Amino acid sequence: MRTRSFFALMLALALGLACGSGAFAADYLLLKGDLHCHTNFSPDCDVPPEKVISDSIIAGYDFISFTDHNSKYQLRKDYSTPELVVLPGFELTLRGGHYNVFGIRDFIVKGSLIREELGEYMAYLRGLGAFIQLNHPNDAKYGSKYGYDFDFELLEVLNGRPTEDDYRTIADYQTLLCSGRKIVAIANSDAHRNHSVRYDYNWVLSTAKTSEAITEAIKAGRSFLTASVDGPIISMSCGDAAMGATVARAAGQAVDIAIKGLPEGANVKVYTSAGLLSDARTSGGAFRVSVPTLDYKFVRCEVWLNGVIAALSNPIYID
Ligand SMILES: [Zn+2]
Ligand SMILES: [Zn+2]
Repeated sequence: MRTRSFFALMLALALGLACGSGAFAADYLLLKGDLHCHTNFSPDCDVPPEKVISDSIIAGYDFISFTDHNSKYQLRKDYSTPELVVLPGFELTLRGGHYNVFGIRDFIVKGSLIREELGEYMAYLRGLGAFIQLNHPNDAKYGSKYGYDFDFELLEVLNGRPTEDDYRTIADYQTLLCSGRKIVAIANSDAHRNHSVRYDYNWVLSTAKTSEAITEAIKAGRSFLTASVDGPIISMSCGDAAMGATVARAAGQAVDIAIKGLPEGANVKVYTSAGLLSDARTSGGAFRVSVPTLDYKFVRCEVWLNGVIAALSNPIYID
């Protein structure tokens, strides 16, 4: 309860800065999660689920998903504990690409599909209630051979320690958003070992620490991503709308961005559907900017330190 109160307070302060709406801020908990890690139900990992859970708590997560390769064994029971919510998932692992599938426990496993069969199988999974994440699309070995030309709800823009292939994915993400797609950006460890020390955290604004509430927040894109457990913490709002939301365009409207816990020398980059709008070098600590929505289709931000990504927000969309 202490953790919950602390984060609720921290979030209230952060959002209060940005939008001045106390009711809105008090509605959410800020929870950190990893939507991609492996247990010994994967052939390339020898860490049992119980150890992954205890190590994930050490790493600072409130929720994770065991996304074992083409496996249903991790789904035979709910591994959630009071400290750590475990969301149902598996990694559909094909020669053409890797896709995390969330939200279902019972389905037919298919480990080899060609491009023409993929859409039909994904439609089958969605029919059971699944939602799908495209994993590490620019990975040299296990990237997406089918590009981005199919339906997925989540895009893994960071996978483990940030590298050049992640930066290509972040650039691709901007292109996809500019094309009019609404896709939730996600950052995951993809840990196969050393689960107590991980890169990449999804900070979701959730109404409760339950599987249902966290899933709703993830699908809504009500989240920002950081490479480190230490933040920085991004809050973004447009009126009463948070990250991931679509707001109706109005005169005089602005997206307010407030960031806390910036390391010294961090750059805050604001992107819109017109490209990079601003790149501000900060002296660390707190940073605020108000971005008029004008005729932009979305506004989002990134934080970089010495050429390495530190954080990234999901967009607010303007219709
Ligand atoms: Zn993979
Ligand atoms: Zn994986």
